[in-house]
Amino acid sequence: MKEQERLRQLVDQIHQYDHHYYVLDKPLVSDAEYDRKFRELQELEAQYPKLRMEDSPTKRVGGEPLKQFKKWVHRVPMLSLANAMDDREFCDFDARVQRILGADTKKAMTYFAELKFDGLSINLTYEKGILISAATRGNGTEGEEVTQNIRTIKCIPLKLAGKKHPPLIEFRGEVLLPIEDFKKLNAEQIKKGEKVFANPRNAAAGSIRQLDPKVAASRPLAAFFYGVGHVEGDRCQTFAELEDTMEEWGLPVGEHRRVCKGPEEVLAFYREIQKKRDSLPYEIDGVVIKLNSFEEQEQAGTIARSPRGMVAFKFPPRQETTVVKDILVQVGRTGAITPVAVVEPVNLGGVIVQRATLHNEEEIARKDIRIGDRVLIQRAGDVIPEVVQSIDEVRTGSEKPFEMPNHCPSCQSVLKKDPEEAVRRCINKKCPAKAIERFRHFVSKGAMNVEGMGPRIVEELVDSGLVKDFADFFGLSIKDFLGLEGFKEKSSEKLYQAIQASREVDLDRVIFSLGIRFVGSQTSKEIAKNLATAKELLDLKAEQLEQMDNVGTEVTASVMEAVSDKDFQKEYLRLLGFLSVRVAKKSESGVFLGKTFVLTGTLPTLDRNAAAQLIEEKGGKVSSSVSKKTDYLLAGEAAGSKLDKAQALGIEILDEASFLKLIKTGS
Ligand code: NAD
Repeated sequence: MKEQERLRQLVDQIHQYDHHYYVLDKPLVSDAEYDRKFRELQELEAQYPKLRMEDSPTKRVGGEPLKQFKKWVHRVPMLSLANAMDDREFCDFDARVQRILGADTKKAMTYFAELKFDGLSINLTYEKGILISAATRGNGTEGEEVTQNIRTIKCIPLKLAGKKHPPLIEFRGEVLLPIEDFKKLNAEQIKKGEKVFANPRNAAAGSIRQLDPKVAASRPLAAFFYGVGHVEGDRCQTFAELEDTMEEWGLPVGEHRRVCKGPEEVLAFYREIQKKRDSLPYEIDGVVIKLNSFEEQEQAGTIARSPRGMVAFKFPPRQETTVVKDILVQVGRTGAITPVAVVEPVNLGGVIVQRATLHNEEEIARKDIRIGDRVLIQRAGDVIPEVVQSIDEVRTGSEKPFEMPNHCPSCQSVLKKDPEEAVRRCINKKCPAKAIERFRHFVSKGAMNVEGMGPRIVEELVDSGLVKDFADFFGLSIKDFLGLEGFKEKSSEKLYQAIQASREVDLDRVIFSLGIRFVGSQTSKEIAKNLATAKELLDLKAEQLEQMDNVGTEVTASVMEAVSDKDFQKEYLRLLGFLSVRVAKKSESGVFLGKTFVLTGTLPTLDRNAAAQLIEEKGGKVSSSVSKKTDYLLAGEAAGSKLDKAQALGIEILDEASFLKLIKTGS
């Protein structure tokens, strides 16, 4: 394609994407795909400056403001940021900044590093410390006046705290919807049959750009501030100083912020935040690196749509757009049938994704995902990739709806659907697909942890008939592995040794590895704590299970069903014959035998661990929450709601002295 034609195509496409993203809050493509097209356009324009179109999106910021709102003309334009996609691009930025500032190349620049909040940019105006208006960024020059909606956000002060407020000051920041609230909102939207948001950013934008402030008020929006626009009166010298001051005035400011000297410190900050990304309650899509000094910022100046002294140092994307080629169903270890989309392979944050879960048939129906659809997929942290939504605007009519099968794809038995549950299950005990999944779980990291025993090897072992029950893994010889595809002497020996190494194991891991429905690693730990030998698992009674912490009726029923099954018993006992199981010590005697304690507050001399150890040594156990099952509350200084609850339930309350006396005298 000729350059001019390609330029026109890119400009038109990006305009269309912008409209869907900024105006309709319903993107047509992933941010990553958008960014790639935007870059291609920037590069072509740099190569052929004469061909640059009048209406090129590289000349402007964001989208046009909605007509329904009052227009707000920004006193100082609200710009976008240039991106750095990797270390090299960040170092290029650093080198460029040094060049512009004419600095001695040996002197490291001082940067201010903070989070790049993924929300909707907002400008607040405070006159003599009082919030008088709020506006969106819009196209950077003109935004929408959304003061009423912004006033509903609880963390935004209507009046600044502290002193020395300038006569007029504008703060710039980002309105966000925390991830958990975003999930709740989408679930409610589905219930009401209303549109589902692609991500928290679109949901936050959709909430603020509502004519009725009640809508914004009903959504638990948050905000963070990171800069200023127009300021009358005294100004701070640096970003670090500014954000400290903003914090004193009661504005929400990100807690992860740091002054960094030179690129090395910036890279360290970037990696630190990347590790924290999954544990933050809100979305960030990178970090923002800014010259700390405002004077240096000014010297660096701006180009087109972004300041030259700042850069958005982005994290790898989590969402991508692709096409559903087919929908298959997979059988899980408990027989649950999961529909999975086979997608056009796509690189998502460094991993090639070819399959994405659709969870269950209700989810497919709710999201209306069809074979042939263009979809947005997502992969966050260690979670398996999932289909977020279809992009129905680009449907051609040839897409096919999917129907869940009534028979198991592996053993053909009729699937059962509990009316209470969203999933169908294969209940055939001998289903080969279930067996493979069950064994994959058995050898997995959190379970028996057989290093090097990947899913493909398990499948081969089952298919070749070498593994029919758990114990069979321990009867495998080096020769058995040599018969499998891709195995040589060394690799066979290694896997054989890994199996031998896994024979010495803690009881909770053994319980977890059995794959009993609802028995995850935490529940396994709880059950193991209550057993003096591995064999005792088979003697468990429902009443005993119900006494355990965090073990409800569902878990009890599932464990009882498993341990009373003759085949399970045989398989378990055979397995134990190969294992050396470590059992957590449990005192069978002592003054607290069978008693449950809850600890609260600060004790005068004992710390929590020491008190818990004493209780366990004397046969008792420690639970985290007060319930009818609690025998004693050991309460110290500043005891809170647990004390109130224990009093209400009439539970005996001990202070440290009476606790120690009880240990000594038994009464
Ligand atoms: P941007 O999101 O890449 O970054 C600039 C913005 O980051 C600033 O304007 C500011 O609002 C915000 N920001 C967050 N934390 C900040 C901090 N600590 N300091 C300073 N600024 C901070 O750029 P943009 O112009 O807001 O949006 C463009 C991006 O939006 C694209 O790169 C793309 O990822 C996405 N987009 C996607 C589509 C789509 O169809 N999927 C369409 C348009 C835009």
